[in-house]
Amino acid sequence: MIATILTYMDKQECLKDQAHVLSVQEEAARTCVILDQTIFYPQGGGQACDQGVIASPNATFSVQDVRFIDGFVHHYGVFENGTFAEGEQVDCRVDGARRSLNSCLHSAGHLLDEAVKNLGYAWMPTKGIHFPGKCAVEYAGELTMDGEVVRAAIEVEANRLIQAGHPIHSSLVNVSDLASLADYVPPNLPENKPVRIVNMGGAKSTPCGGTHVATTAEIGKLVIRYVKVKRGDIKVAYEVVG
Ligand SMILES: [Zn+2]
Repeated sequence: MIATILTYMDKQECLKDQAHVLSVQEEAARTCVILDQTIFYPQGGGQACDQGVIASPNATFSVQDVRFIDGFVHHYGVFENGTFAEGEQVDCRVDGARRSLNSCLHSAGHLLDEAVKNLGYAWMPTKGIHFPGKCAVEYAGELTMDGEVVRAAIEVEANRLIQAGHPIHSSLVNVSDLASLADYVPPNLPENKPVRIVNMGGAKSTPCGGTHVATTAEIGKLVIRYVKVKRGDIKVAYEVVG
């Protein structure tokens, strides 16, 4: 089988699409549907997966979990009725409200990072978590000032960037161009996915495979919950309100 085409990478606004079934299989007591292409975002990069429905005239599959494994997107869920035949054309529909929330929380993580850069902190991002209620960006670096002072400064700068309403652009690029376009190249860049960068008004772009809102204004309001050192890294926890 040819690996799943990741439609969401360059058409993230597409929440309805058609695809063909490559296989339906049981995996560790879960039913898994694999398609030739998908608009469903698989969990990764700290961002929660999409949910939604895959349907044919004779069957409806409720998608509860989506994972990217060895080049294929695995849609895990439950058949409400019927099943799919190999090669059958199906309609895919992503839950738009869930996608919007996840895109917003994930974009807010980038924005927080832009704020950190603008404030001149010499920190290197190591991890992003963008799940509802658990959002944080972690950095390697030194916290040389009081955490509350830094927390307040990041919050002010992040909300200034939100109010500026910068467009958020993402584009697919050649891996050889990444070093010149991006502010850093992650050491664990996946080799079996297209390479994409995202820019939200900064001088340099950031490598990213997640989904984003269209402008920073759509994030609403960012609250920095705390800045503290955890297991040697600086953890900046945040939430989006309003
Ligand atoms: Zn991103």
